[in-house]
Amino acid sequence: MSELIYRGGTILTIDPQHRVVTGDVACADGVIAQVGGAYTPRTDDYQIVDCAGMLVMPGLVQAHIHTCQTLARGRADDLELMDWLRGVIWPYEASLDEDAAGAAGELACAELLLGGTTAILDMATVHHTDAIFRAAERSGIRATIGKAMMDAPDPQVPVGLRETTSASLDESEKLIKRWHGTANDRLRYAYAPRFVLSCTDELLREVGVQSKAKRLRIHTHASENRGEIALVRQRFGKDNLDVFEDLGLLGDHVCIAHCVHLSAAERALLARTGTHVCHCPSSNLKLASGVCDVPALIAAGVSVAIGADGAPCNNNLDGFLELRLAALIHKHTSGPRTLPAPEVVRIATLGGAAALGLSGAIGSLEVGKRGDVIAIDLSPLHQIPSSSPWSVVAYAAKACDVRHVAVDGRLVVQDRTLLTLEVPKVRDRARRAAQRLFP
Ligand SMILES: [Zn+2]
Repeated sequence: MSELIYRGGTILTIDPQHRVVTGDVACADGVIAQVGGAYTPRTDDYQIVDCAGMLVMPGLVQAHIHTCQTLARGRADDLELMDWLRGVIWPYEASLDEDAAGAAGELACAELLLGGTTAILDMATVHHTDAIFRAAERSGIRATIGKAMMDAPDPQVPVGLRETTSASLDESEKLIKRWHGTANDRLRYAYAPRFVLSCTDELLREVGVQSKAKRLRIHTHASENRGEIALVRQRFGKDNLDVFEDLGLLGDHVCIAHCVHLSAAERALLARTGTHVCHCPSSNLKLASGVCDVPALIAAGVSVAIGADGAPCNNNLDGFLELRLAALIHKHTSGPRTLPAPEVVRIATLGGAAALGLSGAIGSLEVGKRGDVIAIDLSPLHQIPSSSPWSVVAYAAKACDVRHVAVDGRLVVQDRTLLTLEVPKVRDRARRAAQRLFP
């Protein structure tokens, strides 16, 4: 048995009572064995991490990320969605090769882990998804990844991203066999039809059927931008979520990013089917898409998570920044008590875990759950004097305050040093690959 002990911190459990306790968080063989009080190691194979003066909490879970896009950071600023996709992102994704995809994946995973994000739902591109899985595997992050599915005959999509329906399903099948449930179930697969406009009805229907038969997640985008919604109405004569329902793509195994422009009927449909929404406030603001009405979603009973989306539309993958923005952005319309600190911290942890279908395994510090645990330094001046730990996490803490990170009970960041990948190498590799793609 190997034990990891986060010793002597203030512990934000995110358990059903939202308890804040003090003492140790101990993991034995990857599983949380004790939360609070003093833990006595049961074997000689243990490691103690001093967390005095720190806040210990579950790692952030981001339910909408594109790690493959990280090399396009800063290359697609100040554009709206369809111009951003057609002008930069699709040509960029089409130009990725195996090495560049791996470089983007490593860069993203390194940034995410150092910033306290321990689990992601990640949409890769059409090809080279193995490289993304390998990067996640090496980095130690918990990742549910899917290749982007794009079989619609759209002349605006570069040739390199066009695929047939059967090729899209076959490649997904191979990736499921190779990766789903590997690394002690840390790596999982999710079907990732990009959005309805990128896919044929046949493909979407098949994804609906296969995801249920194989008990896999679906990760997609919808209702991000008014132009996109107009195109959906043109093709189907109805709104995004009605199309999803007709094609069998709603349910508690589905996570839809954005959902900025929804009717009350669409919100009710999400609630009725248990479909998860991932709120991406930075991305929605930067692409001038609008603001997802999270208070209305929550009031309707929809499960919400938070995500940074991709580096070219954010331009960071900083979960704390997203969390703070999610807490702030709804107050001017819905009032200052909207999304109070404990609620937004729950969304950024347990809400994300639910979107990944892993609320029984991660998202809170409870005995029996997997050991995805972070420790935040409480000494930086921008937090002093801190009173409520909820307030620190929601409003004051930054990604750079994260000191220690464990995934599955294994330390992957210690004293702000990534233990799994060499950061200078990750940086150099990413720069070289970006230079090749953007000469
Ligand atoms: Zn996205």
